[in-house]
Amino acid sequence: MPGQILVIDPVAANRIVLRSRVTVSCHSVVQAGSPDEAFDRVSENRPDLILLGPGLTGPMACDMVRRLAGFPAGRGVPVLILTGSFDPEAVRAALLAGAEDALDPEAQGAFLLARIRALLRQRGALDEIAARSLTEQQLGLSEDAAAFVQPARIALVTQRPVKGRAWQAALMPLVPHRLSWLDPQAALSLSPEDGHPDLYIVEDNPDQPDDSLRFLAELRSRQSSRTAAAILVSDPRARRQERPADRLAMALDIGANDVMRHGFIPEELVLRSALHLARKRDGDRLRNRVEDGLREALRDPLTGLYNRRYAMPHIDRIAERAVQSGRGFALMMVDLDRFKSVNDTHGHAAGDRVLVETAARLSDNIRKQDLLARIGGEEFLIAMPDTDLDRVRMAAARLRRVIADRPMSAGQLLLPVTASIGIAMADIAAFREAAAAGQSGTAVQALLERADKALYSAKAQGRNTVNFGLSAA
Ligand code: GH3
Ligand code: MG
Ligand code: MG
Repeated sequence: MPGQILVIDPVAANRIVLRSRVTVSCHSVVQAGSPDEAFDRVSENRPDLILLGPGLTGPMACDMVRRLAGFPAGRGVPVLILTGSFDPEAVRAALLAGAEDALDPEAQGAFLLARIRALLRQRGALDEIAARSLTEQQLGLSEDAAAFVQPARIALVTQRPVKGRAWQAALMPLVPHRLSWLDPQAALSLSPEDGHPDLYIVEDNPDQPDDSLRFLAELRSRQSSRTAAAILVSDPRARRQERPADRLAMALDIGANDVMRHGFIPEELVLRSALHLARKRDGDRLRNRVEDGLREALRDPLTGLYNRRYAMPHIDRIAERAVQSGRGFALMMVDLDRFKSVNDTHGHAAGDRVLVETAARLSDNIRKQDLLARIGGEEFLIAMPDTDLDRVRMAAARLRRVIADRPMSAGQLLLPVTASIGIAMADIAAFREAAAAGQSGTAVQALLERADKALYSAKAQGRNTVNFGLSAA
């Protein structure tokens, strides 16, 4: 996933070294030697990531990070600072300024490239979030961030409880979040009732170097923890190992969001946690909104049932499966009788109440695998997979009764309502032929029409009755 990277460093030789280092991964690089030049480059073409070279002093780099964040085209672009040596104070200052990280020379090879990969991976999601929050601001919908921030759940994952408790004790006074210690096994087997952590802070155990990588891979493979943040805390003893930076780079590629390369430093860990928790929260909000939107697009707002848009492709899938399994399926059209007169006599609101209660009675009397959708004003469609004529007959008779036997309540009123039902049983042999000829869609349409005709016949027969389409008779 090549991206466009802006390298900023007043020293030309530094820029050249950095450029050759990142072009190895096919990223395209633009350069700037001064802040002015940097702002020109950013406004010409918004980069995906910014690298501040070691030619800038720590304070200069931090100042640059702040100015970029205040510059419309630079806002939200991740910044990595490369330093000439390791200094925990400089790392803290960089994080406080809003940089993603400050990397000392030891981390400027494989680890830097992995850090870039991880940041570019997040880029799409971050851009989307930035765009949405801009729209929200414009619409005046933006929430007061501080007012909505709930304490997060943080899991401290270490092999031994002693270490976990020590981490907990060190972090407790520094964060408002709920911290709990878990061993790796327990962390991977949390149930929904336990609640799922927003952030996993994971020990890298140099005695079992593969364990932490495996743990991260497991975390990413699980639905419940896929979107959680994860920070790996390396052990300073790991420095004795051969090429520890390569292994930490691998952790990023597997899915760690961040790595504490110099071990457990509480103040630094708190800053990194805050960044990743905020990002996790933004991601959750965005995902929820997309899910809500999808639900709205596919559900009928009055009854909560699926709508036609959802039902039609679902029936295609039921037909495909029926062809594979050879088991029959049926479509049922249920239409309320003389419903217009309910509205005319008692008002639209009473009519709505009847529709809601009809939906509930139908849905209480079908199987889990059946699909119930509201496809018109007072018209419902039921698709029943894995069934046969006798069962459909019984189901239809029951559904007719559950509507007709008891009046529907609309406020004070009790309204007797009936429904007519038209049924079409699918002919699997015909569907198989149609599928072979690439005509499945046409076959589904024909079946829907047959159910419709059957409904029409049921109406003609006097309503409150069930009618089977011709070929099932
Ligand atoms: P039939 O037995 O032939 O089906 O008669 P009908 O009156 O049920 O059929 P018709 O198609 O003539 O009228 C359907 C009525 O359903 C018309 C409309 O006012 C009502 N309707 C459609 N959607 C809604 C809704 O969302 N809420 C309410 N209250 N009424 C609705
Ligand atoms: Mg009707
Ligand atoms: Mg109708």
